[in-house]
Amino acid sequence: MTTTEPKMTDNGEIEDLDVILVGAGFAGLYLLDRLRSMDMTVRVIEAGAGLGGVWYWNCYPGARVDSSGPIYQYSRDDLWRNWQFSELYPSWQEIRDYFRYVDEKLDLSRDIRFNRRVTEAQFDSSRNRWIVRSDDGSVATARYFGLCTGLGSKPYIPDLPGLSDFAGERHHTALWPQQGLDMAGKRVGIIGTGASGVQVAQEVAGVAAHLTVFQRTPNMALPMRQMKLDNDAVSRMKERYPAIYDRRTKTFAGSDIDFLQQAGFDVPDDERQATFEQVWEEGGFAPWVGSFNDILVNEEVNRAAYEFWRDKTRARIDDPAVAEMLAPTEPIHPYGVKRPSLEQNFYEIFNQSNVSLVDLRSTPIERVTLGGVKTTIGEHDLDVLILATGFDAVTGGLTSIDIRGTEGKTLKEKWAGGVRTHLGMAVSGFPNLLFMYGPQSPNAFANGPTCIELQGEWIAQLLDHLRQSSHTRIEATVPAEEAWRAQVLALADVTLFPRADSWYLGANIPGKLREILAFTGGLPAYMAKCRESAERGY
Ligand SMILES: Cc1cc2nc3c(=O)[nH]c(=O)nc-3n(C[C@H](O)[C@H](O)[C@H](O)COP(=O)(O)OP(=O)(O)OC[C@H]3O[C@@H](n4cnc5c(N)ncnc54)[C@H](O)[C@@H]3O)c2cc1C
Repeated sequence: MTTTEPKMTDNGEIEDLDVILVGAGFAGLYLLDRLRSMDMTVRVIEAGAGLGGVWYWNCYPGARVDSSGPIYQYSRDDLWRNWQFSELYPSWQEIRDYFRYVDEKLDLSRDIRFNRRVTEAQFDSSRNRWIVRSDDGSVATARYFGLCTGLGSKPYIPDLPGLSDFAGERHHTALWPQQGLDMAGKRVGIIGTGASGVQVAQEVAGVAAHLTVFQRTPNMALPMRQMKLDNDAVSRMKERYPAIYDRRTKTFAGSDIDFLQQAGFDVPDDERQATFEQVWEEGGFAPWVGSFNDILVNEEVNRAAYEFWRDKTRARIDDPAVAEMLAPTEPIHPYGVKRPSLEQNFYEIFNQSNVSLVDLRSTPIERVTLGGVKTTIGEHDLDVLILATGFDAVTGGLTSIDIRGTEGKTLKEKWAGGVRTHLGMAVSGFPNLLFMYGPQSPNAFANGPTCIELQGEWIAQLLDHLRQSSHTRIEATVPAEEAWRAQVLALADVTLFPRADSWYLGANIPGKLREILAFTGGLPAYMAKCRESAERGY
């Protein structure tokens, strides 16, 4: 790998960079390495103090990935051969170790500026360059500006009355203290039962004097079927890695599983139940994106899948009233249209005497008090309050930077009436700006590293094409992004996704426009569109 060190002035200004990237997670690191290999000068600016993106911030107890380890890594031969996770679904600690390993192998950190949050970026049309400012006063300029801010970099903290009055420890899961937090013997409350809420509840239930889980919407969580992996198991799995990495580019969710080539009511009832049983035993996301191919579009099939999930889940919960809250007889929304979590013992913790569940639909929170949380029917005394309240997902990381293109408008202003992108990577009026794993790409519907490698390679080839053809500026056209938006919305309209108030639609954030934020046509269809664009000269 060859790189030339960019010149840095005394006041920290970096000149003559080819590319500035924001974010040192899977996406930023992929592009850093790939673009350096093309002899481009690249800097990554990262708000956190370490590598890993979401795995730097989400270090709460129990944080782990819901994609299996073999697919939740780069597919490069020279990286996977000497790396192994000790569990099928690795913890945040191991994912951080993985990033340290990648850093050692690829020598990435020297081109990363940590503890620096990008606050403003302005396109200078006279020079076709971006001027990028950060919270430490530093300024950098580059021809291309790559936003690798991920889908979960802006935590959402609900505006609960009295929240700041709480006298105990209060933390959002994605802003967890890096030094950890001892919750042994404490009275702990968790607000939220999304992916983070489920994970942290499982851990806290084992150590806390009492855990109170405040639930608004039941999570249709699926069995993780976690496994410890010894050397033999890893060796056997690695024999299949090349095939797995090839396959993950061809499946709907960039995963090692895919929808069946069968619709739910094309088979007799007993066969349908047997299939539900089979994907259930397989575990992970198999009962979701490894089940019948119409499970997320056909109401009847979806209902059958819900009932299967409900009955399996209720059988694990002792108290029928609690079971009704966690797995209601009638679904609150269709099955699988909010991101299901993978759980290990989430439902069993509610059989423990030190765990209680509060249904916020029937008894909403009135306020947070000095000593706990007060709902309409009483107060819960707490020493620790955990906000597992998610993110201003997908767009939040982008719109929280004051990015101004050629029309003087910020990206946030531009998207106020709905997100507009071309291929989920570029925006009109914002030349030479590209983003990965962003809105209107498959993002949340694709395994992170798969989507990132494919988009990253596409971007690298685009920049190479521009260089070869001596172009200094590229920009999405308005008709292209209007067409892309129409396609993204139309694809989602035939699914059941719009039927739940999920973060997939921005519906978890008060005031955020409710619209699908991802391309729901699957990764292969998405990449075909990207390739088509490239073949037509972008
Ligand atoms: C708790 C959690 C669990 C997840 N589990 C899965 C899973 O099971 N499978 C899966 O495929 N995906 C999962 N994801 C999605 C995950 O985002 C992707 O897998 C992957 O991490 C995306 O990588 P990225 O580099 O695009 O973004 P990220 O990993 O989000 O990294 C973005 C980085 O950008 C930095 N940043 C943002 N704004 C600024 C700024 N203004 N200035 C400087 N730096 C900035 C952030 O600090 C962060 O480090 C999960 C996400 C979360 C939050």
